[in-house]
Amino acid sequence: MTTIDEKLQPIYADVLRRNAGETEFLQAVHEVLESLGRVVTKRPEYADNALIERICEPERQIIFRVPWVDDRGDVQINRGFRVQFNSALGPYKGGIRFHPSVNVGIIKFLGFEQTFKNALTGMPIGGGKGGSDFNPRGRSDNEIMRFCQSFMTELYRHLGEYTDVPAGDIGVGAREIGYMFGQYKRITNRYEAGVLTGKGLVYGGSRARKEATGYGAVYFVERMLGANKQAFAGKRAVVSGSGNVAVYTIEKITEFGGKVIACSDSNGYIVDEDGIDLELLKDIKEVRRERISEYARRKTGTHYIEQGSVWDVPCDVAMPSATQNELTGKDAATLIRNGVIAVGEGANMPSTPDAIRNFQEAGVLFAPGKAANAGGVATSALEMQQNASRDSWTFDQTEARLADIMRNIHDNCAATAEEYGVPNDYVVGANIAGFVRVAEAMNAFGVI
Ligand code: GLU
Repeated sequence: MTTIDEKLQPIYADVLRRNAGETEFLQAVHEVLESLGRVVTKRPEYADNALIERICEPERQIIFRVPWVDDRGDVQINRGFRVQFNSALGPYKGGIRFHPSVNVGIIKFLGFEQTFKNALTGMPIGGGKGGSDFNPRGRSDNEIMRFCQSFMTELYRHLGEYTDVPAGDIGVGAREIGYMFGQYKRITNRYEAGVLTGKGLVYGGSRARKEATGYGAVYFVERMLGANKQAFAGKRAVVSGSGNVAVYTIEKITEFGGKVIACSDSNGYIVDEDGIDLELLKDIKEVRRERISEYARRKTGTHYIEQGSVWDVPCDVAMPSATQNELTGKDAATLIRNGVIAVGEGANMPSTPDAIRNFQEAGVLFAPGKAANAGGVATSALEMQQNASRDSWTFDQTEARLADIMRNIHDNCAATAEEYGVPNDYVVGANIAGFVRVAEAMNAFGVI
C-alpha cells in the first residue's frame, strides 16, 4: 500500500488524534498526504510554517439544531452542519447534502476534498460543505419547505456572496435551493443572487448548471481516453446512481457515442442492453421522484436486480456517481476481470483506497472525483460570475466554458503527474496540482 512519507507522518498522527473516529475525513486526508510526500521532497518550503497542518484543519465548523414541524404536527429535530474549510482562494464554496448518513466527519471529508477540487478549477473559490442528517425520502413538498426554511434561519448568518456560497449535493436540488434562497432573501432583506448557486433560471441560475457535474465528468474522461488513444464512441459504460450526476453523465456518454447499459439506486440496479432510455429515466427520477425499479417495470426486455452490485455488469468504462465508498476493492477486481479500461468518479470519493490501488496496479485509467467531478462547482463559479455582472449566458456558451475548464483540469493533472515522475497517476496529479494553488495563496497571507 502507498504510505505517507516519513516527514508527513507526524502530521497524519496529529490529524488522527484530533479527529478520532471520523473515518471518511481521515481517509481523504490520508490520500492527499500520500501524494504530498513527492512535493515536500522537491519543494521543502511547502512544509514550512505548518502549512500542511493548517490545510488539514478547517477554518470554522458550525453545528446547529434544526427544529421543524412535520405534516402530522409533530416536532422533528435534525442536526445541521457547515464546515468552512479553506478560504485562501475565495469565499467558501461547496454543496449542502441532506441524507441520514450525514455527520461531521462526512461533511469534513467533503469540505477538505472540495478545497482541492475548487483549486483545480482555476476559479476564485475556497472550499466548504454543509448538510444535515435530514432524510428527504417520503417527505411532502411542504415538509421539505419547512425544513429548508428552518435550516436557513440558522445558517444565513454565516453566508454571503463574499463569505460562503452553498449549492446542492445529494438530496438538495433546485427545489431545496429555491426554498433556501427565498428564506435567505426574506431574513436579510437583500436580493443577493450570488449567495447560493444551483438556483432556478428565472431567479439567477445558470444554464447548464444542472447538467454540469455529469457532463464535466464525461468531458474529463473523454480527454483522458483521448490522451491514451481511446474514446467513448462504441464503448459500454456503467454509471452508478440515478441522481443528477448520473443522469447527465449518461446523457453525455450517449452523445459521445457510448452506450450506458446500467445504473442504480441504493436498493438495486437496472440493466438495459439497448442503452438507457433517458426520457424514461428523467421521467422516473426528475418528474416523479421514484425508485429505479420503476424503469424495469415500465420498459420490457430490461432487468431490475437487487443482489450483488452494479459493478458486476461488464463494461469498458465505469463511472461511479452515487456516493462515497460505493465501489470496493472486490468490485474493482470484478471490473478488471471484465476488462474495464477507465474509471471516472462522478461522486465524491466513491472508490475505496483498495479499489483505487487495484485499478492503478492493473493499469486502468483512473480519474479521481476531485478532478473529474469538478464541473459542477466550476459551473457554480460561472453562475457567480453571471450574477456579479447581472448577466445570463446561453447554454452553448456556458457548456463551452465548462468543456474548456474540464480539459484544462485534465491537462494540468496529467502534466503534474508527469512532472512528479508518475505519468498517468491522476490521483497524485490532482492532489498536487490542487494543493500547490492553495498553498501558494496561503503562503502569501502569512500565518493565518
Ligand atoms: N456538491 C457539488 C460538489 O461536490 C457542487 C458544489 C457547488 O456547486 O458549490 O462539488
